[in-house]
Amino acid sequence: MNQFKLNCKQVERLIPDYINSKLSDEDTKALIEHVENCPSCKEELTIQYLVFEGLNDVEETGDFNLITRLNARLKQDSDRFKEMHRRRLMFISLGILALCFVMFVVAVLLI
Ligand SMILES: [Zn+2]
Repeated sequence: MNQFKLNCKQVERLIPDYINSKLSDEDTKALIEHVENCPSCKEELTIQYLVFEGLNDVEETGDFNLITRLNARLKQDSDRFKEMHRRRLMFISLGILALCFVMFVVAVLLI
């Protein structure tokens, strides 16, 4: 899926794959961006995560720990994409700067 923005229905379908870490970076990014701004999908993700993780380790942890873990994971993924975005912006800025410099040099040479 190459869409940048997802609607709630699409997010709902992606949630199981997100929990199982099967989503592509692109889909993960889109899902997190949606969930950060959509309380009902965040709730859906939380419920599915609790069910999934709860089945995995019923006795090990309580709900509270699971929610903390989910939030930690969401934050971790979100930070990762923000860092990628920051680097891309820096790269573009450097490119523009380099271009300005070249244009400046050309202008000076022509005068
Ligand atoms: Zn939604």
